[in-house]
Amino acid sequence: MTNVVLLGATGSVGRSAVRVLRRHADRFRVLGLSASRSADELEALALEFEPAFAVLAGLEPAAHAPGAWTGEWRYGPAAVAAAAADPRADVVINALVGFAGLESTTAALEAGRRLALANKESLVVGGDVVLAAWRGGGGDIVPVDSEHSAIHQCIGDRPRAEVRRLILTASGGPFRDLPIERFAEIRASDALAHPTWSMGEKITVDSATMANKALEVIEAHLLFDIDFDHIDVVVHPSSIVHSLVEFRDGSTLAQLGVPTMELPILYALTAPERLADGAEPFDPIAAGPLEFEALRREAFPMFELGIMAGRAGGTTPAAYSAANEVAVAAFLQERIGFTDIARTVEHVVSDWSVGAATSVPEIVEADAEARSRASERIEVLAG
Ligand code: MG
Repeated sequence: MTNVVLLGATGSVGRSAVRVLRRHADRFRVLGLSASRSADELEALALEFEPAFAVLAGLEPAAHAPGAWTGEWRYGPAAVAAAAADPRADVVINALVGFAGLESTTAALEAGRRLALANKESLVVGGDVVLAAWRGGGGDIVPVDSEHSAIHQCIGDRPRAEVRRLILTASGGPFRDLPIERFAEIRASDALAHPTWSMGEKITVDSATMANKALEVIEAHLLFDIDFDHIDVVVHPSSIVHSLVEFRDGSTLAQLGVPTMELPILYALTAPERLADGAEPFDPIAAGPLEFEALRREAFPMFELGIMAGRAGGTTPAAYSAANEVAVAAFLQERIGFTDIARTVEHVVSDWSVGAATSVPEIVEADAEARSRASERIEVLAG
């Protein structure tokens, strides 16, 4: 049995992970579960999976009345990072959203766990700190992000020197074809209607602005140790080809499948082993022609800003990610428009002085500073 800690069990990726764990209950034992504030949903999962503990990160004990489940409740963000480092765990699935996942990512890696990483922001903002925890702790990161899972599968056990280029696919999101002059009219409900993937709100907006793809380029750079000049993005509207790897002999491998997060989650739990599973098989005839096109960079300034932040390094990716989180929240509250997301982030990162990111406190400080600058900008834009 593989002992699994699932962080962020009630979010979009968390619910997909629950379905995977339910189907493979003969192979995985759920050791711990966390959610932010969804106490009832978490308790239902605890009754089903009988974990050793359940964590409510966003609640105080006084604000929670446990129901029928009589297991151990834990509270607060520190309990989440402690769960990630639990010595009984074999795999930690980090399905938290945004910056909140950083300490769990470093805790799991420092403890030598396998980290099934869905929380790309923690890697992007943590950068060298996460890489040091990975190397120092002897743990292992297997990405849950579909593009990076594809690359992981294509590279297999081949040495990095054989890899010439990574090509990440992007669906293009709901505004792939929208004329640039209409971007200012985009409302939250438009941005939340993703054509191929069903995901949480934050990542769905990030997919619409292409911030998600920039974060994924940085994620690929860190995970696979490939420089930015050798990572390309291509738009592939049907989301069948999850990404491609070009090797130095000119051969290019791709991983294909219907868009579902359950497959990369299962792979991250067992890789390189593959379990028998009932996922919908890929039918090349039904899929029809596979189309690829160039990304309209001029329409998606968040992509270029993110790549610039990644190349700048240090705390700049943390500033980019933090400003984006604040701007996306303001956009979802309809306080600012769609194009104001990039305006806010550009304001923060354009004169960001690149500080070293060698410890979690330095990153936490940069995150707070970027959030404060983003909020100030949003006040001006919303006013
Ligand atoms: Mg992805």
